[in-house]
Amino acid sequence: MKETVDGPVSPGFRAVALASDALSDNTAITRLPETLRSALKHAPAGKCVRWGIPFEIENFVLVSTSPTSVSFAPTTAQWFVIMHTSDVRPLDADPDGFISPMRGAGQLNEHAATYVLLYKDGTEARAEIRRRHQVGAFQRRWGENCFQAVAHSKPAPVRASHEQLRQGWGNTQTRVNQSDSGPWVNWLWAWENPQPGKAVVGIRFQSVSGTLLVFGLAAGNAAENLLRWRRRRKALLTLPEGETFDPGLDEHGLLDQIQLDMGQVISASPRLAYPNESWTDSYNNQLPVRSEQQVLVEYTSHPDACFHLAFAGHAAERVPVGDVEAGSHNGPVRPVPPATQRVALRVLDASSRQPVAVKLHVHGQYDEYIAPVDRHRIVNTAWFEDYSVDFSHQNRHACTYIPGETVLDLPLGKVYIEISKGFEIRPVRRVVEVATETEEIVIELDRVLPWREKGWVTADTHVHFLSPMSARLEGAAEGVNVVNLLASQWGELMTNVGDFDGATTWGSRETGQDGEYLVRVGTENRQHVMGHISLLGYRGQIIAPMTTGGADESALGDPIETLLTEWARQCHKQGGLVVLPHFPNPRAEHAASIISGDIDALEMTSWGDLYSGINPYSLSDWYRYLNCGYMVPAVGGTDKMSAATAVGTVRTYARLDEQTPFTYDTWMGAVRRGETFVTYGPLLEFSVDGLPMGRRIAMSRTGGTVDVMWQVSSVTVPMTRVELVINGEIRESVAVDAAGAGGTWSIHLDKSAWVALLVRGHYKDQSEIIAAHSSPVMIDVEGSQMLAAADAVTILEQIEGAMAYFDTIGTRADDRAYKRMRLVLESAHRSLHNRMHRKGHYHDHTPVTDHKEHH
Ligand SMILES: [Zn+2]
Ligand SMILES: [Zn+2]
Repeated sequence: MKETVDGPVSPGFRAVALASDALSDNTAITRLPETLRSALKHAPAGKCVRWGIPFEIENFVLVSTSPTSVSFAPTTAQWFVIMHTSDVRPLDADPDGFISPMRGAGQLNEHAATYVLLYKDGTEARAEIRRRHQVGAFQRRWGENCFQAVAHSKPAPVRASHEQLRQGWGNTQTRVNQSDSGPWVNWLWAWENPQPGKAVVGIRFQSVSGTLLVFGLAAGNAAENLLRWRRRRKALLTLPEGETFDPGLDEHGLLDQIQLDMGQVISASPRLAYPNESWTDSYNNQLPVRSEQQVLVEYTSHPDACFHLAFAGHAAERVPVGDVEAGSHNGPVRPVPPATQRVALRVLDASSRQPVAVKLHVHGQYDEYIAPVDRHRIVNTAWFEDYSVDFSHQNRHACTYIPGETVLDLPLGKVYIEISKGFEIRPVRRVVEVATETEEIVIELDRVLPWREKGWVTADTHVHFLSPMSARLEGAAEGVNVVNLLASQWGELMTNVGDFDGATTWGSRETGQDGEYLVRVGTENRQHVMGHISLLGYRGQIIAPMTTGGADESALGDPIETLLTEWARQCHKQGGLVVLPHFPNPRAEHAASIISGDIDALEMTSWGDLYSGINPYSLSDWYRYLNCGYMVPAVGGTDKMSAATAVGTVRTYARLDEQTPFTYDTWMGAVRRGETFVTYGPLLEFSVDGLPMGRRIAMSRTGGTVDVMWQVSSVTVPMTRVELVINGEIRESVAVDAAGAGGTWSIHLDKSAWVALLVRGHYKDQSEIIAAHSSPVMIDVEGSQMLAAADAVTILEQIEGAMAYFDTIGTRADDRAYKRMRLVLESAHRSLHNRMHRKGHYHDHTPVTDHKEHH
């Protein structure tokens, strides 16, 4: 038997020791049924605290065939709390296994015993102990709960798997623990004394059916049933000077600094200070400041419970929750208005008056996040832990996605609402006053930038783990028309493979939806050294294996049996689109895939980062290929793998062919044509001599002048500059208005060139970033081939590196496969190498390639 404490002890109750002459001796233990006897070692013992109530357990009183009485010193109390349990009573089934009358395994309502309070004046008060009411069985069967008694451990919060060393990936995500199962359960029943003014001197226990074991008794006073906790509330804890908040939970789910006796702290987290005074002027996803001194505490408790506070260098303090809630406590714990006003929130498109999916954030006057009733209050941003439709910006600014209508429980007074829906609709931050008569809040959104009307559609080329319908909601709420959900393999873990059918476009008209927000499941095929490749929208069978070559992308022992280039060719055979994700990493084989013409687009990636923009490192790598004449457009994809990243943080804009309806296939066509740009917010139009991105212009040997036209607009990231990039260098640069600008340049060209538009911008409290970048227009001047020697050498070296890995340490499949793949790489290498030599560029030869063969 073990001593256990599940939290601090309430000052309103005291343990009542049971006189030892009534307790069981060893012969009583031997009379117990075997199941009880063997589990008894798990029963609580010694000085215990359960649900804030103290018990002193020496042994148990066996309530069986003959009545047993215990006596104690005269005690007056409103409540006697009995810690007891019972045997598991057999069910009588007929030979067919049917049970009648059917009381269930818990023998619901069976009269198990009668307990009698013995008053000092000789009178008595009786209580019937019925199964599943006042007592349960020592081993609870799932679903057989007690109606008037609770299991001996109080519920407690649980840290998510990544936050603790404890086992249990799935269960920890509930963040709650109800310890009412296991080898031994005692039950606490609070017996209301019908005559609280009279002294009680003992209790007689009389068995009626079966066996009960009474372990402990406590007595005390409380205004109402002490085992009934009230609905969740919040309070604000201010730590003393010099004290820092410790979020660690002990094995009972308790914090060091703040605990409750007859209740439980649900969560405690530093207050996030939002700019509430200037809320409507602050921007979408702007981060609040994390407070060092103030902690928001959520709790559930009995009204007579006390907070128990413990801070370094301070005497322990006990604060009644009643005083906190009444506002009469003048100390470190203050009440936060309860969120009990049920309000419907509707977000409408201003022109259609229809509800539209949006991203939503709501907080109250104490900066407490308020989630809709069917959404996480505590958003889990860990990798592969929770695929709920939430976004938490840097684990500070919590948001969720709603289909346009939702229900929230709000506090009375001011609430602060943020709503956004992509880059064409101005995000709103609004303050709403909630009163007792508030039943509905309606917010209207206007589409202000007409890019969709002009034929542009948006896409995220790279999302993991969500279900297709969650991806569709998040896409719609972020204004992303196409979400590519990529199945993959991670070691021994396969994700979204059941969602891949090589046929369905979720949200399309064929599936009965409006066809505006689509989700298509593709695959990201990966090799940790050779590289990753995203195979989008292909039809038919899944292209597998999805990973090769062993850890860490692939399972240990997986050989390299397919190249990226071969995966790309298979995807094209099956009608798909090939994207190099999170370009340029891992940097190896994809150099060969690009040279061979097997790549449709390169992906600029954000992950959870809203403020770093398009990485010049990624652009520099892309420019190498453009400088060598390989026309590959850019796309934007997030590689979202958790709620820390929002779908479409960086996104692709691609323009459909004029007169083409929007479908997944026409979107793939738009990307293949190269009329794309990548953006974190600003939208652009760009043409050279009237031709859009992705096109080539032929010029005679003498070259000439081209007219560049551009236009930019933003309702999100404020813009600062627009620049013209020619062959990887900034040729023109102009300062622009934060919200919009346009212009033209006349550019003289005397040799072949690629031309693209780059937009810079930043929020006022952030650094300037490359916020958008177009795909290029290529101008071929006769007699001048795009082939920058220095870039070509680095590309060849990259292919040579891939070959060296392949030749030396890469795990091999079989000899035939090895030779086949070696030829693919050699042929790509040879094609660029020969071009260089034809142009008369010489370079240092590396030992990996045998030059003599090709000369
Ligand atoms: Zn990847
Ligand atoms: Zn990925």
